[in-house]
Amino acid sequence: MTNTSTTLRESADHRLRSRAARVVPGGMYGHQRAGLFPANFPQFLAGGNGAIIRDVDGREFIDFLLGYGPMVLGYQHPAVEEAAARQRALADCQNAPSERMVELAELLVDMVDHADWAYFAKNGTDATTTALTIARAATGRAKILVERHSYHGAAPWCTPGVAGIQAADRENIVYFDYNDLASLRDAFAEADGDLAGVIITPFKHNDGVDQELITAEFAGALRTGCDAAGAVLILDDVRCGMRLHLGSSWRDVDVEPDLSVWGKAISNGYAVSAILGRESLRDAATSIFSTGTFWFAAVPMAAALATIAELRRIDGVGLQRRAGDRFKAGLVDQANAAGFEIAYTGPSQMPYLRFVDDVDHKLSFEFSEAALEHGVYLHPRHNWFVSTAHTDEVIDRALEGTGMAFNQLAS
Ligand code: PLP
Repeated sequence: MTNTSTTLRESADHRLRSRAARVVPGGMYGHQRAGLFPANFPQFLAGGNGAIIRDVDGREFIDFLLGYGPMVLGYQHPAVEEAAARQRALADCQNAPSERMVELAELLVDMVDHADWAYFAKNGTDATTTALTIARAATGRAKILVERHSYHGAAPWCTPGVAGIQAADRENIVYFDYNDLASLRDAFAEADGDLAGVIITPFKHNDGVDQELITAEFAGALRTGCDAAGAVLILDDVRCGMRLHLGSSWRDVDVEPDLSVWGKAISNGYAVSAILGRESLRDAATSIFSTGTFWFAAVPMAAALATIAELRRIDGVGLQRRAGDRFKAGLVDQANAAGFEIAYTGPSQMPYLRFVDDVDHKLSFEFSEAALEHGVYLHPRHNWFVSTAHTDEVIDRALEGTGMAFNQLAS
């Protein structure tokens, strides 16, 4: 690992930041803006391979953010890159979809129990928004139940920022709290008579708070409430898809949604998302007009076919769990030894570490800053991700870095 000692001021990253400040609003926006990270984090990246990323100054880090989730097989995975290159040699964006679209729809319908059809888009946001449109077309109703702080993308109906958003964009959204049956009952009652659907993440994986698995009662109440109201239950599997179970993240909860939404890890870094749905919603999905110039591009679909085939071949979920368990065990030991009380929540494939009583995430920031100095890229307040490229050896190297970071924090 080559961590150069370029000072912040003379670094290539700093020069790029100065140029960006002139031509990009705020120098950067969204999740990627610098203010959300400790000061020593790079704003720009130059490349990646396996579990390693390299910044524009040549520093290398073991990555636990993976492009905010997509790189489930690691960067530059040969099988995915070969499939993408083969398709690129034929064509990517054309007047009509390629064969790859039908192949990918067939694969997803075969893999996911509740799916009888697949509808493709580009980002998770396109797909969650399209799912709402399908629910409204199916029911002829307007209201959607949404968990109060969950993230379903950057569309006006759900973006966490309010600047530029009109009250009308959200007037048909009714909020409830995760795993809180009373608040769910109230939300169903408030939307009574005009409820189109409910959208929910597989477990509570909101940023900056402990991750919470859904309770059986709550999942059951969502299903019963939707059935009673004739509303559509939408599982937003954009962040968790291909990480907990290849056949949808609620496989083990024993509740089936009517629609599920996928993105991020289905194509190991290529831009394609999907809505999968039940037979009963096929006509509604046919009736809507939701599309985009790039939605049918063939290269990302070829990449998705190769990604899913590889995840099946190598037991990708099992490998992620193994890597996550090893990382968790090491980190918990290190935190205890250094005298820090931490909450380590969420499935080990996509965990979240919080320091208990850490006002304003100050310790999290200091820990991430110290870990980065020792070659480990850990977001201070977003869940982390592991990939199948996080082998035992990679995890052990990462733990060497985090061990030094905990000691630094304790001294
Ligand atoms: N839904 C969930 C649960 C997400 O975590 C995200 C992105 O983080 C999205 C939707 C939006 O996906 P995208 O950023 O691809 O638009």
